[in-house]
Amino acid sequence: MRIGIVGCAGRMGRMLVNAVLDTDGCVLAGGTERLGSDALDSDLGELVGRDRAGVPVESDARLLFQRSEAVIDFTAPAATLAHAALAAELGRVLVVGTTGLSSDDEGRLREAAERAAIVYAPNFSIGVNLLMALTERASAILADDYDIEIVEMHHRHKVDSPSGTALGLGRAAARGREVALDSVWCKSRDGHTGARPRGEIGFATLRGGDVVGDHTVMFAAEGERVELTHKASNRAVFARGAVRAALWARGQSPGLYSMRDVLGI
Ligand code: NAD
Repeated sequence: MRIGIVGCAGRMGRMLVNAVLDTDGCVLAGGTERLGSDALDSDLGELVGRDRAGVPVESDARLLFQRSEAVIDFTAPAATLAHAALAAELGRVLVVGTTGLSSDDEGRLREAAERAAIVYAPNFSIGVNLLMALTERASAILADDYDIEIVEMHHRHKVDSPSGTALGLGRAAARGREVALDSVWCKSRDGHTGARPRGEIGFATLRGGDVVGDHTVMFAAEGERVELTHKASNRAVFARGAVRAALWARGQSPGLYSMRDVLGI
């Protein structure tokens, strides 16, 4: 499968280039970077510290989509929307890992998915997707005298908060209780907040150092607490999951899919 990587010089972009080069049955179709990036025109293999791949980093996403059967996008919301429009126009598989999309942005992704198979997930690790399934199950079993709090920590460069994964875990917990997350969430607390409302789903965000991604879902009641935790120690897990999603999406009808569809959980 010919796979292109947009944002190929980013932290995740470089992992994705390596994952495509290391996966049997995949060919690296090319990579793009934003105009002005120092990485433009460098060789994609050399960019990630490997032998020359003979494919230069370019800025024209349309050319990359034309050459690719699937494109993987871990960039930024505005870029991802432009890429989704190209995937819809050219009928290419798109795998989106970008987080921080607004609900309007997600609506535009859904529109693009009427004409292309798009896999969109806040987290492509298998462990986190298992954590989402366990969270939904636990919140269905534990009634709302168990307070749900979601704590996440990421490296100091992360720009959105709470993390897309924390919000995904919140949605899973809300599904378990058959409520809409945005009717019960509390995304941050400061000052005199008053007592915690029953049924609230709270979030706490920590930032620092080089933490790849830690998430804990707590169910706290009088007298006991259940905690479900996942810790990612290497970004390669997200890249491997995204390549697996691209291979899975080949041959799927247009639609918006999640990593849980890919894993069948
Ligand atoms: P980063 O800033 O290191 O990389 C983003 C790259 O995209 C940069 O190199 C930037 O120049 C490039 N870019 C921006 N606009 C572009 C455009 N129009 N065309 C081409 N390239 C463009 O960030 P990162 O740490 O790699 O994270 C990227 C995104 O992926 C974030 O939203 C992050 O939260 C998300 N992420 C998701 C997962 C997951 O599993 N879903 C895992 C890790 C990170």
